[in-house]
Amino acid sequence: MSERNSATIETPVLIVGGGPVGLALAADLGWRGTPCLVVEQGEGPADHPRATAINARSMEFMRRWGVAEAVRNASAPEDFPHTALYCTTLTGFEIARIDRPHHGGRGPTTTSPERAQRCNQIWLDPILRGLAVSFKTVDLRYRWRFEELTQADDHVVATVRDLVRDETRRIVAQYVIDCSGGHSQIRRQLDLTMSGSPYTGYFVSIFVKAPELWAHHAMGKAALINFVEPAGLWRNLVMLDGRELYRFGVRGKEYYDAPDDIDCERLFTEVVGKKIPHEFISVRRWVARNVVSDTYRRGRIFFAGDAAHLNHPSSGLGLNTGLGDAVDLGWKLNATLSSWGGGGLLTSYEIERQPVGRRNIGHADVSHAGDRDREPAPEIFENTQAGDRARRKMGDAIVSSMTRKFITDGLALGYRYDPSPIVWNEADAAPHEAIEDYHPNAVTGSRAPHAWLGDGRSTIDLYGRGFTLLRLGEAADLSAIERAFKARSVPLAVERVDDSAIGALYQRRLVLVRPDGHVAWRSDAPPADPAALVDRVRGASASTS
Ligand SMILES: Cc1cc2nc3c(=O)[nH]c(=O)nc-3n(C[C@H](O)[C@H](O)[C@H](O)COP(=O)(O)OP(=O)(O)OC[C@H]3O[C@@H](n4cnc5c(N)ncnc54)[C@H](O)[C@@H]3O)c2cc1C
Repeated sequence: MSERNSATIETPVLIVGGGPVGLALAADLGWRGTPCLVVEQGEGPADHPRATAINARSMEFMRRWGVAEAVRNASAPEDFPHTALYCTTLTGFEIARIDRPHHGGRGPTTTSPERAQRCNQIWLDPILRGLAVSFKTVDLRYRWRFEELTQADDHVVATVRDLVRDETRRIVAQYVIDCSGGHSQIRRQLDLTMSGSPYTGYFVSIFVKAPELWAHHAMGKAALINFVEPAGLWRNLVMLDGRELYRFGVRGKEYYDAPDDIDCERLFTEVVGKKIPHEFISVRRWVARNVVSDTYRRGRIFFAGDAAHLNHPSSGLGLNTGLGDAVDLGWKLNATLSSWGGGGLLTSYEIERQPVGRRNIGHADVSHAGDRDREPAPEIFENTQAGDRARRKMGDAIVSSMTRKFITDGLALGYRYDPSPIVWNEADAAPHEAIEDYHPNAVTGSRAPHAWLGDGRSTIDLYGRGFTLLRLGEAADLSAIERAFKARSVPLAVERVDDSAIGALYQRRLVLVRPDGHVAWRSDAPPADPAALVDRVRGASASTS
């Protein structure tokens, strides 16, 4: 970062927006030693809760950055069940429950060294902020508001307002990453469109403190509580800290239009079914849409997180998808600015990430519609045999159709970059459609799967800084491939793994893993043309430029 004079700052990367995605990108760039400047109009991390569900892949990113333990410690207590409960009221009838025993807690699962956690942004964002600013190459400015930009062939000039000093700053950046969320001014300025579902939902989110809520009813602890009412499903309670804090969600345009007139007391007491000790902390309104940007890049400007895709949060996919964007961009920006990345490396960002966005946001749309359009039979609210039958019927329907709303390990861990111009895609690879279950595999484009190494590390721990070439089984002469990487200054570490189970999982003797942990190439023999392989994976081959 250099300040030419008090009004102009030069930086390789300007990140607009210091929400979780902007902070994660800054952290990843800092971790890789790439300087960046983050401008955030707010005073600091948000104090009203939004995202809580942090999936296993996001936790693997936290592990890479060394903050997984901090996130776990800030999450709901280990033994708090991640159950999704459907009931009429907390003191009324239970209708369905979907348990998620492999979410939360500390130990690994069979498919990841990390478990999904429930850590709300009000605790996650400060961890990401602390991580980002721990790198001296990251410059984070709060109360700086992006105003406009102009683009030239080799740089972007942004105008930013320092709201504290009431001064305008000119920022000259090689790349601008728009992480400014759903109301992105950059998208508006460039007149960029988003496509997807026609659905628009209006909500209010009430931040409420209700200590030991579970002590006041007989349904036990649950992370998500959906209330089935005669008018359908329009209220829910989301556990935040596993102790006393909840996000109480209420759907309805009438509430959205007049948030100051909302009778929080009545709405909350109705879903509990009786008066219990509680305190309202804040109320915010928000609009849900399920749309994906038609472009993730315009010249030197890239879009990530909610600036690139928006979805109803019921499947917990918005932030997690955004963190994936940040991780895909981080190493590509680092490589491009370090000169070993080819001209096609940044082009691959949209090609790889937009399909993931479309898949996740499409799933969120279908999942939310499954609840939104559910009409309860009137008997459900009766304490009769007919009521029991109606509740069982609705409960069965909810469990069979909504389990995939809450369990999305296939989406979290199984996404694959295929096609990708920087991956040696396998023509005969099976489709990757699974949503609930993740099926470990090392097909090119996939996240290289987790397995424990003899020294107690996960294979996941081998990936991150540069490329990693796994040598599984028999020795092969790797000197030509190593020379090819070295000749182009592409960082490569060769890791020998003598473990037949890992060999069977990765299915080839040589597996090349990218800095983001995705498989770029695999084979039983060294490549015939190592230079062509390196150029492909660093985005410098003819097909990528
Ligand atoms: C009620 C609710 C519950 C949710 N639950 C989940 C969940 O469980 N799991 C999940 O994965 N996702 C969830 N989400 C979605 C998640 O909150 C978002 O996907 C996530 O916050 C997106 O992060 P972001 O950094 O891209 O954008 P944001 O969090 O919107 O951050 C953008 C930042 O940019 C700043 N900014 C905007 N304009 C400017 C400007 N001109 N200059 C400077 N700064 C600017 C803003 O102040 C803001 O801090 C939920 C969302 C809601 C509303």
